[in-house]
Amino acid sequence: MAEFTMELNEEQKEVRDWLHGFAADVIRPAAAEWDEREETPWPVIQEAAKVGIYSLDFYAQQYFDPTGLGIPMAMEELFWGDAGIALSIVGTGLAAVGVLANGTEEQIGTWIPQMYGDANDVKLAAFCSSEPDAGSDVASMRTRAVYDEAKDEWVLNGTKTWATNGGIANVHVVVAVVDAELGSKGHASFIIPPNTPGLSQGQKFKKHGIRASHTAEVVLEDVRVPGSCLLGGKEKLDERLARARERAKAGGERVKNAAMATFEASRPAVGAMAVGTARAAYEVALDYAKTREQFGRPIIDNQGVAFQLADMRTSVDAARLLVWRASWMAVNGKSFTAAEGSMSKLFASETAKQVTAQAVQILGGNGYTREYPVERMHRDAAIYTIFEGTSEIQRLVIARTLSGMSIR
Ligand SMILES: Cc1cc2nc3c(=O)[nH]c(=O)nc-3n(C[C@H](O)[C@H](O)[C@H](O)COP(=O)(O)OP(=O)(O)OC[C@H]3O[C@@H](n4cnc5c(N)ncnc54)[C@H](O)[C@@H]3O)c2cc1C
Repeated sequence: MAEFTMELNEEQKEVRDWLHGFAADVIRPAAAEWDEREETPWPVIQEAAKVGIYSLDFYAQQYFDPTGLGIPMAMEELFWGDAGIALSIVGTGLAAVGVLANGTEEQIGTWIPQMYGDANDVKLAAFCSSEPDAGSDVASMRTRAVYDEAKDEWVLNGTKTWATNGGIANVHVVVAVVDAELGSKGHASFIIPPNTPGLSQGQKFKKHGIRASHTAEVVLEDVRVPGSCLLGGKEKLDERLARARERAKAGGERVKNAAMATFEASRPAVGAMAVGTARAAYEVALDYAKTREQFGRPIIDNQGVAFQLADMRTSVDAARLLVWRASWMAVNGKSFTAAEGSMSKLFASETAKQVTAQAVQILGGNGYTREYPVERMHRDAAIYTIFEGTSEIQRLVIARTLSGMSIR
Protein backbone atom coordinates (compact mmCIF):
# COMPACT_ATOMS: atom_id res chain seq x y z
CA MET A 1 0.00 0.00 0.00
CA ALA A 2 1.34 3.44 -0.94
CA GLU A 3 1.42 5.95 1.89
CA PHE A 4 -0.88 8.89 1.43
CA THR A 5 1.17 11.88 0.41
CA MET A 6 0.30 15.37 -0.65
CA GLU A 7 3.50 15.74 -2.59
CA LEU A 8 4.01 14.47 -6.11
CA ASN A 9 7.21 12.46 -6.60
CA GLU A 10 9.82 13.55 -9.14
CA GLU A 11 8.42 11.40 -11.93
CA GLN A 12 4.90 12.69 -11.33
CA LYS A 13 6.14 16.27 -11.31
CA GLU A 14 7.77 15.69 -14.68
CA VAL A 15 4.55 14.27 -16.11
CA ARG A 16 2.55 17.12 -14.59
CA ASP A 17 4.86 19.76 -16.11
CA TRP A 18 4.75 18.03 -19.49
CA LEU A 19 0.94 17.92 -19.39
CA HIS A 20 0.78 21.50 -18.23
CA GLY A 21 2.95 22.53 -21.17
CA PHE A 22 0.60 20.75 -23.58
CA ALA A 23 -2.45 22.30 -21.89
CA ALA A 24 -0.93 25.79 -22.00
CA ASP A 25 0.62 25.64 -25.48
CA VAL A 26 -1.82 23.47 -27.43
CA ILE A 27 -5.16 23.17 -25.63
CA ARG A 28 -5.75 26.66 -24.17
CA PRO A 29 -4.94 28.58 -27.38
CA ALA A 30 -7.42 26.38 -29.32
CA ALA A 31 -10.19 26.55 -26.71
CA ALA A 32 -12.19 29.55 -27.93
CA GLU A 33 -12.17 28.37 -31.56
CA TRP A 34 -13.50 24.88 -30.84
CA ASP A 35 -16.02 26.22 -28.37
CA GLU A 36 -17.41 28.43 -31.14
CA ARG A 37 -17.25 25.69 -33.78
CA GLU A 38 -18.95 23.21 -31.47
CA GLU A 39 -17.12 20.34 -33.13
CA THR A 40 -14.75 17.60 -32.08
CA PRO A 41 -11.23 19.11 -32.18
CA TRP A 42 -9.65 16.35 -34.28
CA PRO A 43 -6.35 18.21 -34.91
CA VAL A 44 -5.83 18.70 -31.16
CA ILE A 45 -6.60 15.04 -30.45
CA GLN A 46 -4.11 14.11 -33.19
CA GLU A 47 -1.50 16.35 -31.58
CA ALA A 48 -2.21 14.67 -28.23
CA ALA A 49 -1.81 11.27 -29.91
CA LYS A 50 1.50 12.30 -31.46
CA VAL A 51 3.03 13.26 -28.13
CA GLY A 52 1.54 10.22 -26.39
CA ILE A 53 -1.19 11.83 -24.29
CA TYR A 54 -4.02 10.32 -26.34
CA SER A 55 -3.09 6.67 -25.86
CA LEU A 56 -3.96 3.67 -23.76
CA ASP A 57 -0.37 3.49 -22.51
CA PHE A 58 -0.51 6.94 -21.02
CA TYR A 59 -3.93 6.41 -19.50
CA ALA A 60 -2.99 2.99 -18.07
CA GLN A 61 0.24 4.37 -16.61
CA GLN A 62 -1.69 7.00 -14.67
CA TYR A 63 -4.51 4.57 -13.81
CA PHE A 64 -2.11 2.09 -12.21
CA ASP A 65 0.01 4.69 -10.40
CA PRO A 66 0.17 3.19 -6.87
CA THR A 67 -0.11 6.59 -5.19
CA GLY A 68 -3.49 7.16 -6.85
CA LEU A 69 -2.46 10.66 -7.87
CA GLY A 70 -1.67 9.94 -11.54
CA ILE A 71 -5.23 10.29 -12.88
CA PRO A 72 -6.31 13.30 -10.79
CA MET A 73 -3.08 15.12 -11.61
CA ALA A 74 -3.49 14.42 -15.35
CA MET A 75 -7.18 15.40 -15.37
CA GLU A 76 -6.53 18.62 -13.49
CA GLU A 77 -3.84 19.75 -15.92
CA LEU A 78 -5.73 18.86 -19.12
CA PHE A 79 -8.99 20.42 -17.92
CA TRP A 80 -7.06 23.47 -16.75
CA GLY A 81 -6.28 23.90 -20.46
CA ASP A 82 -9.92 23.63 -21.55
CA ALA A 83 -12.76 21.39 -20.43
CA GLY A 84 -14.38 20.79 -23.84
CA ILE A 85 -11.14 19.85 -25.59
CA ALA A 86 -9.89 17.85 -22.61
CA LEU A 87 -13.13 15.83 -22.56
CA SER A 88 -12.63 15.10 -26.24
CA ILE A 89 -9.18 13.76 -25.33
CA VAL A 90 -10.17 11.71 -22.26
CA GLY A 91 -13.70 10.68 -23.36
CA THR A 92 -12.37 7.53 -24.98
CA GLY A 93 -10.74 6.63 -21.66
CA LEU A 94 -14.17 6.43 -19.99
CA ALA A 95 -15.19 3.68 -22.42
CA ALA A 96 -11.77 2.04 -22.24
CA VAL A 97 -11.98 1.83 -18.44
CA GLY A 98 -15.33 0.05 -18.84
CA VAL A 99 -13.56 -2.61 -20.92
CA LEU A 100 -10.50 -2.73 -18.66
CA ALA A 101 -12.70 -3.22 -15.59
CA ASN A 102 -15.11 -5.83 -16.99
CA GLY A 103 -13.56 -7.29 -20.12
CA THR A 104 -11.59 -10.49 -20.63
CA GLU A 105 -7.94 -10.23 -21.59
CA GLU A 106 -8.87 -11.01 -25.16
CA GLN A 107 -11.50 -8.27 -25.24
CA ILE A 108 -9.06 -5.76 -23.76
CA GLY A 109 -6.42 -6.69 -26.35
CA THR A 110 -8.85 -6.62 -29.27
CA TRP A 111 -10.95 -3.53 -28.59
CA ILE A 112 -8.93 -0.98 -26.68
CA PRO A 113 -6.41 -0.43 -29.49
CA GLN A 114 -9.36 0.11 -31.86
CA MET A 115 -10.76 2.72 -29.49
CA TYR A 116 -7.64 4.89 -29.83
CA GLY A 117 -6.39 4.13 -33.34
CA ASP A 118 -2.92 5.62 -33.85
CA ALA A 119 -1.39 9.05 -34.25
CA ASN A 120 -1.96 9.04 -38.03
CA ASP A 121 -5.52 7.79 -37.78
CA VAL A 122 -7.01 8.60 -34.38
CA LYS A 123 -10.23 6.91 -33.36
CA LEU A 124 -12.67 7.56 -30.51
CA ALA A 125 -14.81 5.45 -28.21
CA ALA A 126 -18.14 6.16 -26.50
CA PHE A 127 -19.72 4.83 -23.32
CA CYS A 128 -23.49 4.69 -23.65
CA SER A 129 -25.53 4.13 -20.52
CA SER A 130 -27.98 7.07 -20.13
CA GLU A 131 -31.35 6.97 -21.86
CA PRO A 132 -34.13 9.53 -22.31
CA ASP A 133 -36.05 7.98 -19.40
CA ALA A 134 -33.08 6.62 -17.46
CA GLY A 135 -30.67 9.30 -16.30
CA SER A 136 -30.21 9.34 -12.53
CA ASP A 137 -32.56 6.36 -12.37
CA VAL A 138 -30.31 3.87 -14.13
CA ALA A 139 -32.53 0.93 -13.13
CA SER A 140 -35.30 2.15 -15.47
CA MET A 141 -33.10 1.52 -18.51
CA ARG A 142 -35.02 0.05 -21.47
CA THR A 143 -32.42 -0.86 -24.09
CA ARG A 144 -32.67 -4.63 -24.40
CA ALA A 145 -30.07 -7.19 -25.36
CA VAL A 146 -31.50 -10.60 -26.29
CA TYR A 147 -29.35 -13.65 -26.83
CA ASP A 148 -29.81 -15.56 -30.09
CA GLU A 149 -28.39 -18.89 -29.04
CA ALA A 150 -28.52 -20.50 -32.50
CA LYS A 151 -26.19 -17.87 -33.90
CA ASP A 152 -24.31 -17.03 -30.69
CA GLU A 153 -25.24 -13.38 -31.21
CA TRP A 154 -26.76 -10.66 -29.07
CA VAL A 155 -29.45 -8.43 -30.56
CA LEU A 156 -29.71 -4.92 -29.14
CA ASN A 157 -32.58 -2.47 -29.46
CA GLY A 158 -33.08 0.90 -27.78
CA THR A 159 -32.09 4.55 -27.67
CA LYS A 160 -29.17 5.91 -25.70
CA THR A 161 -28.72 9.58 -25.05
CA TRP A 162 -26.08 12.08 -23.91
CA ALA A 163 -23.32 9.82 -25.18
CA THR A 164 -19.96 11.60 -25.31
CA ASN A 165 -18.55 10.76 -28.78
CA GLY A 166 -21.81 8.89 -29.53
CA GLY A 167 -22.20 8.08 -33.22
CA ILE A 168 -18.72 9.35 -34.18
CA ALA A 169 -16.88 6.72 -32.13
CA ASN A 170 -15.19 3.76 -33.74
CA VAL A 171 -16.18 1.53 -30.82
CA HIS A 172 -19.27 2.00 -28.64
CA VAL A 173 -19.69 0.35 -25.25
CA VAL A 174 -23.41 -0.02 -24.60
CA VAL A 175 -25.09 -0.98 -21.34
CA ALA A 176 -28.32 -2.93 -21.88
CA VAL A 177 -30.92 -4.92 -19.95
CA VAL A 178 -30.52 -8.68 -20.16
CA ASP A 179 -32.94 -9.54 -17.33
CA ALA A 180 -35.61 -6.90 -16.73
CA GLU A 181 -36.73 -8.42 -13.42
CA LEU A 182 -33.39 -7.81 -11.75
CA GLY A 183 -33.32 -4.02 -12.12
CA SER A 184 -29.78 -2.64 -12.38
CA LYS A 185 -28.39 -6.09 -11.49
CA GLY A 186 -29.83 -7.36 -14.77
CA HIS A 187 -27.67 -5.07 -16.91
CA ALA A 188 -24.68 -6.06 -19.02
CA SER A 189 -22.21 -4.17 -21.20
CA PHE A 190 -21.56 -4.87 -24.87
CA ILE A 191 -18.95 -3.82 -27.38
CA ILE A 192 -20.43 -2.59 -30.63
CA PRO A 193 -17.64 -2.97 -33.21
CA PRO A 194 -16.94 -0.35 -35.89
CA ASN A 195 -19.51 -0.08 -38.71
CA THR A 196 -22.00 -2.48 -37.15
CA PRO A 197 -25.32 -2.21 -39.04
CA GLY A 198 -28.23 -0.86 -36.99
CA LEU A 199 -26.25 1.61 -34.87
CA SER A 200 -26.76 5.23 -35.83
CA GLN A 201 -26.36 8.66 -34.39
CA GLY A 202 -29.54 10.44 -33.35
CA GLN A 203 -29.56 14.15 -32.64
CA LYS A 204 -26.35 15.90 -31.73
CA PHE A 205 -26.94 18.26 -28.81
CA LYS A 206 -26.12 21.96 -28.91
CA LYS A 207 -24.83 22.64 -25.44
CA HIS A 208 -24.34 25.40 -22.88
CA GLY A 209 -20.68 24.47 -22.29
CA ILE A 210 -17.96 21.89 -23.10
CA ARG A 211 -19.03 22.54 -26.66
CA ALA A 212 -15.90 21.06 -28.24
CA SER A 213 -17.03 17.70 -26.86
CA HIS A 214 -19.51 15.86 -29.07
CA THR A 215 -22.65 14.70 -27.23
CA ALA A 216 -25.38 12.79 -29.10
CA GLU A 217 -28.09 10.18 -29.05
CA VAL A 218 -27.21 6.69 -30.20
CA VAL A 219 -29.99 4.62 -31.75
CA LEU A 220 -29.77 0.81 -31.79
CA GLU A 221 -32.07 -1.00 -34.19
CA ASP A 222 -31.64 -4.78 -34.32
CA VAL A 223 -27.93 -4.36 -33.76
CA ARG A 224 -26.38 -7.84 -33.90
CA VAL A 225 -23.03 -8.47 -32.26
CA PRO A 226 -21.16 -11.77 -31.78
CA GLY A 227 -21.32 -13.45 -28.36
CA SER A 228 -17.70 -12.46 -27.86
CA CYS A 229 -18.81 -8.80 -27.59
CA LEU A 230 -20.48 -9.35 -24.21
CA LEU A 231 -18.00 -7.84 -21.76
CA GLY A 232 -16.67 -10.47 -19.38
CA GLY A 233 -18.27 -13.35 -21.36
CA LYS A 234 -21.48 -15.34 -21.11
CA GLU A 235 -20.38 -17.72 -18.37
CA LYS A 236 -19.57 -14.88 -16.01
CA LEU A 237 -22.84 -13.13 -16.84
CA ASP A 238 -24.88 -16.30 -16.21
CA GLU A 239 -23.18 -16.78 -12.84
CA ARG A 240 -23.82 -13.17 -11.86
CA LEU A 241 -27.47 -13.33 -12.90
CA ALA A 242 -27.96 -16.62 -11.03
CA ARG A 243 -26.56 -15.06 -7.84
CA ALA A 244 -28.79 -12.01 -8.25
CA ARG A 245 -31.87 -14.22 -8.76
CA GLU A 246 -31.00 -16.25 -5.64
CA ARG A 247 -30.74 -13.06 -3.61
CA ALA A 248 -33.99 -11.74 -5.03
CA LYS A 249 -35.69 -15.02 -4.05
CA ALA A 250 -34.23 -14.82 -0.57
CA GLY A 251 -36.13 -11.58 -0.02
CA GLY A 252 -34.06 -9.11 -1.99
CA GLU A 253 -31.55 -8.66 0.82
CA ARG A 254 -29.59 -5.47 0.15
CA VAL A 255 -26.13 -6.39 -0.98
CA LYS A 256 -23.28 -4.06 -1.61
CA ASN A 257 -23.57 -3.14 -5.23
CA ALA A 258 -20.29 -3.63 -7.11
CA ALA A 259 -21.29 -0.79 -9.45
CA MET A 260 -21.46 1.58 -6.49
CA ALA A 261 -17.89 0.73 -5.53
CA THR A 262 -16.81 1.37 -9.12
CA PHE A 263 -18.51 4.77 -9.08
CA GLU A 264 -16.79 5.69 -5.82
CA ALA A 265 -13.48 4.93 -7.52
CA SER A 266 -14.25 6.77 -10.79
CA ARG A 267 -15.94 9.90 -9.43
CA PRO A 268 -12.75 11.48 -8.07
CA ALA A 269 -11.49 11.67 -11.67
CA VAL A 270 -14.47 13.88 -12.53
CA GLY A 271 -13.77 15.88 -9.37
CA ALA A 272 -10.23 16.42 -10.67
CA MET A 273 -11.59 17.77 -13.98
CA ALA A 274 -13.64 20.27 -11.98
CA VAL A 275 -10.57 21.25 -9.95
CA GLY A 276 -8.76 21.97 -13.24
CA THR A 277 -11.50 24.30 -14.48
CA ALA A 278 -11.85 26.02 -11.09
CA ARG A 279 -8.10 26.57 -10.79
CA ALA A 280 -7.92 27.99 -14.31
CA ALA A 281 -10.65 30.54 -13.59
CA TYR A 282 -9.12 31.46 -10.23
CA GLU A 283 -5.73 32.12 -11.87
CA VAL A 284 -7.25 34.35 -14.56
CA ALA A 285 -9.17 36.28 -11.88
CA LEU A 286 -6.11 36.71 -9.67
CA ASP A 287 -4.03 38.12 -12.53
CA TYR A 288 -6.82 40.41 -13.61
CA ALA A 289 -7.46 41.70 -10.09
CA LYS A 290 -3.79 42.61 -9.73
CA THR A 291 -3.67 44.60 -12.96
CA ARG A 292 -7.12 46.15 -13.40
CA GLU A 293 -7.23 49.56 -11.78
CA GLN A 294 -10.27 51.47 -10.58
CA PHE A 295 -10.35 54.39 -8.16
CA GLY A 296 -6.61 54.77 -8.78
CA ARG A 297 -5.60 51.35 -7.41
CA PRO A 298 -5.68 47.68 -8.46
CA ILE A 299 -9.09 46.20 -7.68
CA ILE A 300 -7.40 43.52 -5.52
CA ASP A 301 -6.59 46.34 -3.08
CA ASN A 302 -10.24 46.12 -2.03
CA GLN A 303 -10.93 43.48 0.60
CA GLY A 304 -14.20 42.72 -1.18
CA VAL A 305 -12.21 41.42 -4.14
CA ALA A 306 -9.17 40.05 -2.28
CA PHE A 307 -11.33 38.02 0.13
CA GLN A 308 -13.22 36.47 -2.79
CA LEU A 309 -9.90 35.35 -4.24
CA ALA A 310 -8.87 33.98 -0.85
CA ASP A 311 -12.09 31.96 -0.68
CA MET A 312 -11.71 30.78 -4.28
CA ARG A 313 -8.21 29.45 -3.72
CA THR A 314 -9.21 27.85 -0.40
CA SER A 315 -12.07 25.98 -2.10
CA VAL A 316 -9.90 24.83 -5.00
CA ASP A 317 -7.28 23.44 -2.62
CA ALA A 318 -9.91 21.81 -0.41
CA ALA A 319 -11.50 20.18 -3.47
CA ARG A 320 -8.14 18.84 -4.61
CA LEU A 321 -7.48 17.34 -1.18
CA LEU A 322 -10.82 15.50 -1.21
CA VAL A 323 -10.11 14.27 -4.75
CA TRP A 324 -6.61 13.07 -3.88
CA ARG A 325 -7.83 11.32 -0.72
CA ALA A 326 -10.54 9.44 -2.63
CA SER A 327 -8.16 8.55 -5.48
CA TRP A 328 -5.61 7.21 -3.01
CA MET A 329 -8.35 5.19 -1.27
CA ALA A 330 -9.50 3.72 -4.60
CA VAL A 331 -6.05 2.60 -5.68
CA ASN A 332 -5.29 1.12 -2.26
CA GLY A 333 -8.57 -0.80 -2.04
CA LYS A 334 -9.92 1.14 0.95
CA SER A 335 -13.65 0.90 1.51
CA PHE A 336 -15.54 4.10 1.00
CA THR A 337 -17.36 4.03 4.34
CA ALA A 338 -18.39 7.69 4.03
CA ALA A 339 -18.77 7.69 0.23
CA GLU A 340 -15.56 9.68 -0.01
CA GLY A 341 -15.49 9.32 -3.82
CA SER A 342 -18.94 10.92 -4.15
CA MET A 343 -17.94 13.54 -1.58
CA SER A 344 -14.96 14.58 -3.67
CA LYS A 345 -17.03 14.84 -6.86
CA LEU A 346 -19.78 16.78 -5.12
CA PHE A 347 -17.48 19.32 -3.52
CA ALA A 348 -15.21 19.80 -6.53
CA SER A 349 -18.16 20.23 -8.92
CA GLU A 350 -19.90 22.78 -6.74
CA THR A 351 -16.56 24.54 -6.25
CA ALA A 352 -16.03 24.80 -10.01
CA LYS A 353 -19.46 26.34 -10.50
CA GLN A 354 -18.95 28.83 -7.70
CA VAL A 355 -15.34 29.77 -8.43
CA THR A 356 -15.98 30.33 -12.14
CA ALA A 357 -18.98 32.54 -11.27
CA GLN A 358 -16.79 34.54 -8.89
CA ALA A 359 -14.16 34.87 -11.62
CA VAL A 360 -16.75 36.30 -14.03
CA GLN A 361 -17.71 38.83 -11.34
CA ILE A 362 -14.10 39.85 -10.69
CA LEU A 363 -13.54 40.49 -14.39
CA GLY A 364 -16.66 42.68 -14.50
CA GLY A 365 -17.90 43.44 -18.03
CA ASN A 366 -14.90 41.69 -19.51
CA GLY A 367 -15.81 38.54 -17.59
CA TYR A 368 -19.14 38.52 -19.37
CA THR A 369 -17.61 38.52 -22.84
CA ARG A 370 -15.97 35.86 -24.97
CA GLU A 371 -12.85 38.02 -25.14
CA TYR A 372 -11.84 36.48 -21.81
CA PRO A 373 -11.82 32.76 -21.00
CA VAL A 374 -13.76 32.87 -17.71
CA GLU A 375 -17.08 33.23 -19.55
CA ARG A 376 -16.41 29.88 -21.25
CA MET A 377 -15.07 28.31 -18.06
CA HIS A 378 -18.24 29.29 -16.23
CA ARG A 379 -20.40 27.66 -18.92
CA ASP A 380 -18.16 24.59 -18.92
CA ALA A 381 -18.24 24.24 -15.13
CA ALA A 382 -22.00 23.67 -15.12
CA ILE A 383 -21.52 20.14 -16.49
CA TYR A 384 -19.68 18.87 -13.41
CA THR A 385 -22.76 18.99 -11.17
CA ILE A 386 -24.73 17.04 -13.81
CA PHE A 387 -22.79 14.19 -15.43
CA GLU A 388 -21.41 11.09 -13.70
CA GLY A 389 -24.21 11.52 -11.15
CA THR A 390 -25.76 14.90 -10.35
CA SER A 391 -24.91 16.74 -7.12
CA GLU A 392 -28.27 15.63 -5.70
CA ILE A 393 -27.42 11.99 -6.44
CA GLN A 394 -23.99 12.43 -4.79
CA ARG A 395 -25.72 13.80 -1.68
CA LEU A 396 -28.13 10.88 -1.75
CA VAL A 397 -25.26 8.39 -1.94
CA ILE A 398 -23.34 10.12 0.85
CA ALA A 399 -26.41 10.39 3.09
CA ARG A 400 -27.34 6.74 2.53
CA THR A 401 -23.79 5.60 3.21
CA LEU A 402 -23.54 7.63 6.39
CA SER A 403 -26.94 6.67 7.75
CA GLY A 404 -27.31 3.14 6.41
CA MET A 405 -30.88 4.10 5.56
CA SER A 406 -32.72 4.15 2.22
CA ILE A 407 -33.15 7.90 2.14
CA ARG A 408 -35.17 9.00 -0.91
C1 LIG B 1 -22.55 16.86 -21.75
C2 LIG B 1 -22.99 15.54 -21.21
C3 LIG B 1 -22.22 14.41 -21.44
C4 LIG B 1 -22.65 13.17 -20.97
N1 LIG B 1 -21.92 12.04 -21.27
C5 LIG B 1 -22.46 10.83 -21.00
C6 LIG B 1 -21.85 9.65 -21.50
O1 LIG B 1 -20.80 9.69 -22.15
N2 LIG B 1 -22.45 8.46 -21.28
C7 LIG B 1 -23.61 8.37 -20.57
O2 LIG B 1 -24.12 7.26 -20.41
N3 LIG B 1 -24.21 9.46 -20.06
C8 LIG B 1 -23.67 10.69 -20.26
N4 LIG B 1 -24.29 11.82 -19.79
C9 LIG B 1 -25.56 11.69 -19.05
C10 LIG B 1 -25.48 12.15 -17.61
O3 LIG B 1 -24.78 11.22 -16.85
C11 LIG B 1 -26.93 12.39 -17.15
O4 LIG B 1 -27.36 13.60 -17.74
C12 LIG B 1 -27.06 12.46 -15.65
O5 LIG B 1 -26.88 11.19 -15.10
C13 LIG B 1 -28.41 13.02 -15.19
O6 LIG B 1 -29.47 12.36 -15.81
P1 LIG B 1 -30.64 13.23 -16.49
O7 LIG B 1 -30.01 14.22 -17.36
O8 LIG B 1 -31.61 12.29 -17.10
O9 LIG B 1 -31.32 14.02 -15.29
P2 LIG B 1 -32.48 13.48 -14.33
O10 LIG B 1 -32.10 12.19 -13.74
O11 LIG B 1 -33.79 13.58 -15.02
O12 LIG B 1 -32.44 14.59 -13.18
C14 LIG B 1 -33.07 15.86 -13.29
C15 LIG B 1 -32.92 16.59 -11.94
O13 LIG B 1 -33.60 15.84 -10.92
C16 LIG B 1 -32.72 15.54 -9.86
N5 LIG B 1 -33.04 14.23 -9.29
C17 LIG B 1 -33.29 13.07 -9.94
N6 LIG B 1 -33.53 12.07 -9.07
C18 LIG B 1 -33.39 12.60 -7.83
C19 LIG B 1 -33.49 12.09 -6.51
N7 LIG B 1 -33.77 10.79 -6.28
N8 LIG B 1 -33.31 12.93 -5.46
C20 LIG B 1 -33.02 14.26 -5.69
N9 LIG B 1 -32.90 14.79 -6.91
C21 LIG B 1 -33.09 14.00 -7.97
C22 LIG B 1 -31.34 15.54 -10.49
O14 LIG B 1 -30.33 15.75 -9.53
C23 LIG B 1 -31.45 16.69 -11.48
O15 LIG B 1 -31.25 17.90 -10.81
C24 LIG B 1 -23.85 13.08 -20.21
C25 LIG B 1 -24.61 14.24 -19.97
C26 LIG B 1 -24.21 15.44 -20.48
C27 LIG B 1 -25.09 16.65 -20.24
